[in-house]
Amino acid sequence: MQVVANKVVAIHYTLTNGEGEVLDSSSGGNPLFYLHGHNNIIPGLEKELEGCSVGDDFEVAVEPAEGYGERNAELMQQVPREAFQGVDNIEVGMQFQTDGPGGTMVVTVVDVTDETVKIDANHPLAGVALNFKGSIESIRDAREEEVEHGHAHEGDMADH
Ligand code: ZN
Repeated sequence: MQVVANKVVAIHYTLTNGEGEVLDSSSGGNPLFYLHGHNNIIPGLEKELEGCSVGDDFEVAVEPAEGYGERNAELMQQVPREAFQGVDNIEVGMQFQTDGPGGTMVVTVVDVTDETVKIDANHPLAGVALNFKGSIESIRDAREEEVEHGHAHEGDMADH
């Protein structure tokens, strides 16, 4: 069986950035299950896995455009400090959830003054060149409801 649309695929992977720092890895834990062909994973990785078989190893460099996108300067914003009522200590690096046009998004504090807070709503991996290395652990046909939902019913999503 090969990785094609509407298969549930399990992969083990390690994600590193251009400097070789490990950003994420499934090693030592459960593999990542995803539904192929439904944008569950970034386009650059999904393309690379197309046609693979169980036991295949993969290694792929993904440019930002095929990953989490380029950084967008318009997603950096100065907001008045009063917008953070109830938060006593606002520090660079803190992350907050907020309602954006596309649903919930996470913003990161990048600068703080007495009056204003500068926030960045770019995905933390936007603009980052990504390297994925891993292996295909299993492939199976997706169940009808998985195709309807557009994701694999495994792990946290097994019974929802
Ligand atoms: Zn579902």
